[in-house]
Amino acid sequence: MTDRAFATRAIHAGQAPDPVTGAIIPPIYQSSTHVQDGIGGFRGGYEYNRAGNPTRSSLEAQLAALEGGASALSFASGLAAEDALLRGILRPGDHVILGNDVYGGTHRLLTQVLAPWGVETTMVDLQDLDAIRAARRPRTKVVWLETPSNPLLTIVDIAAVAEVAHAAGAVLVVDNTFASPALQQPLSLGADIVVHSTTKYLGGHSDVLGGAVVLGDDRFAEAVKFQQFAVGAVSAPLDAWLTTRGIKTLAVRVRQHSENAQAIAEWAVQRPEFETVFYPGLASHPGHEIAARQMNGFGGMLSLGLTAGPSAARAFAEATTLFQLADSLGGVKSLIGYPPEMTHASVRGTALAVPENAVRLSVGIEDVSDLIADLEEGLARIAAS
Ligand code: PLP
Repeated sequence: MTDRAFATRAIHAGQAPDPVTGAIIPPIYQSSTHVQDGIGGFRGGYEYNRAGNPTRSSLEAQLAALEGGASALSFASGLAAEDALLRGILRPGDHVILGNDVYGGTHRLLTQVLAPWGVETTMVDLQDLDAIRAARRPRTKVVWLETPSNPLLTIVDIAAVAEVAHAAGAVLVVDNTFASPALQQPLSLGADIVVHSTTKYLGGHSDVLGGAVVLGDDRFAEAVKFQQFAVGAVSAPLDAWLTTRGIKTLAVRVRQHSENAQAIAEWAVQRPEFETVFYPGLASHPGHEIAARQMNGFGGMLSLGLTAGPSAARAFAEATTLFQLADSLGGVKSLIGYPPEMTHASVRGTALAVPENAVRLSVGIEDVSDLIADLEEGLARIAAS
């Protein structure tokens, strides 16, 4: 399957018809355990659901093929995946260099869950390679980056950071949730491991929570698999199956998300109501060149800074109709959020705070003229209020 193009892999990898019935789509194996042909006589290697489930296996094969990885493991949420990965590869006393604009939950996991266990973390602007070199310690084991970042869509050069991480004796982990493998495949750019909140573009329909770890090689496979088995934050069969279904349309969905977001960004730069438009598809975005080099498109996320300030931004987030006010991203339905009080509330007032005048859009795949009309109506509503 590795010789096939991305959209083909997304549909066929791990998705062979059911060998017993010929069902074109592999069924949901909604079973907690598997009968044994004598003690230890496991059919297909399956014993008990926490250790392995055929539906989860089919998702894991699909995920590995999408990212070009040696293997993948699927979890109940993105954070469960991150936790299993970090506990699998780190030991107390180890050190992590973390991008200073990564998802707040990743920061919370490292500083509030793994710190008491003895893992140390330094936040760094990963656009500054010298800052990464300077942050290195003898026990630095991981550099963790996210690009494009949330909510300002900052772009980090994955290949350049991979080189610095490797020279420091660390592995590079990339959270590829925002781009999805349809737009960016970090393992091919030198990263060692990819993580996902499959809740977002991979699931794609805002109807399932999940996470994944994709390993570029076998170094950590056993250690992370052990965490998955020993702790048990696995994806349930129905959730795994919904994610396999979402992934089959990933290529076309992400193309439309990107096309719609580009059109909205180009509309927004013409509007005096927005003083800043954060979208890597605009030539004026500071990360545009790197994004054009390492991505196949610019994605469906953008943020808009309102000229009239924070209270206008807050009001705008509540003034649209098709763009519905909710956390999360990456689904077919458009969403709007006010990061300072929603996704980034926990870092408000800290060095990690985000601009108070910006709203974040997760641009869906509705007709873009309706989406722009909705934003125009929202602007008119806040102007009239
Ligand atoms: N990584 C990123 C970039 C995210 O945006 C999120 C959730 O919003 C996560 C990881 C965590 O994923 P989950 O919510 O599925 O645990």
